[in-house]
Amino acid sequence: MITPIIDDRTIKKLQAIINGVQTIAITCHKSPDGDALGSSLALCHVLRRLGKDAVVVTPDMAPRALEFIPGIRDLIVFTKHEARARKALNDAQVIFCLDFNSLHRIDRLGEIIIPLNTRRVLIDHHLDPEDAFDVMVSFPEASSTCELVFRVLMQMGLLRLMDRHAASCLYVGLLTDTGGFAYSCDNPEFFEILASIMRRRIDRVNLYNKALNTFSADSLRLQGYAISEKMQLFPEQGASLITLDKAELERFNYNRGDTETLVNKPLAIPGIYWSVFLREDADRIKVSCRSQGDFSVSDICARYFNGGGHENAAGGEFFGTIDEAVELFHQVLADLFPTVNPHEQSTNKDNEEK
Ligand code: 5GP
Ligand code: MN
Repeated sequence: MITPIIDDRTIKKLQAIINGVQTIAITCHKSPDGDALGSSLALCHVLRRLGKDAVVVTPDMAPRALEFIPGIRDLIVFTKHEARARKALNDAQVIFCLDFNSLHRIDRLGEIIIPLNTRRVLIDHHLDPEDAFDVMVSFPEASSTCELVFRVLMQMGLLRLMDRHAASCLYVGLLTDTGGFAYSCDNPEFFEILASIMRRRIDRVNLYNKALNTFSADSLRLQGYAISEKMQLFPEQGASLITLDKAELERFNYNRGDTETLVNKPLAIPGIYWSVFLREDADRIKVSCRSQGDFSVSDICARYFNGGGHENAAGGEFFGTIDEAVELFHQVLADLFPTVNPHEQSTNKDNEEK
């Protein structure tokens, strides 16, 4: 049985809001991933089947690798269609905020939404949501926002509207936010939800391959290069660091999404339980962290890298050069492991050859 974990009052409030409105905007975090897009598009599809005028507005473009998600062509992307995005948010009678915990995570969309008098509904699984929402469905222990959208639909009696299209969207988020059902899915109910989704006859193998096992040749080569040439290991601290600068990214014709799962790879090495990836983007250094067990990378990202996320998967940003970001990483090592001699800590290919 799938427990109704969302309290009745919240569900009743949600029902009243949805019954009382016609136009609905749904938004998710910038650099949207499979969970952000899957949950937003699934909810949008179900609301449309309910007869609502629902749209999904994203702060920026979806990665090309996720273009297979059903409904993705209907997105209103702020950085591409600013006027349409503004209008959709202004016209909305309620705004659903999916897969983020703070209005700062949606860039300029946040600046548009904050002054509006429109009710906001949060559905999210990140830690410490800010107090900026009229209705909050916040469960950091949930696998994904897609799981929470399923639970909201279930408790509102709307699962009958979850067809193959919506189920496929939800499947993508359940799959990608758990690394292919590997982590963040210890609750057996996760698999009951999955079973319900699979009963909608989704094309499971095809979705799996597209979501988790499709890379361009350039992307594969870039990942190979990063692991072979750029991965530094810090065995004493159980850490790994990979950096890629602009020139390296250009050399492999980098496209958004090409390094999506790279940060996970060093965790395959026994003894490495946290991994940091620094990527030099146009205007900042993008930081991605992953960990295993109870070593929290969300704390590190919040404290050092203007970010946050989940205990085992977090991210942030650094404004400065990539060398300065690496220096800050060494500061993190020194702060967290003060007893390790910094001159004896790193092993990489070069060191091993010596
Ligand atoms: P990724 O490393 O895949 O970009 O992000 C991993 C997790 O960290 C995601 O759950 C994402 O929401 C969170 N995250 C990534 N970047 C940021 C950031 O700049 N700020 C905050 N607060 N969270 C982030
Ligand atoms: Mn998520």
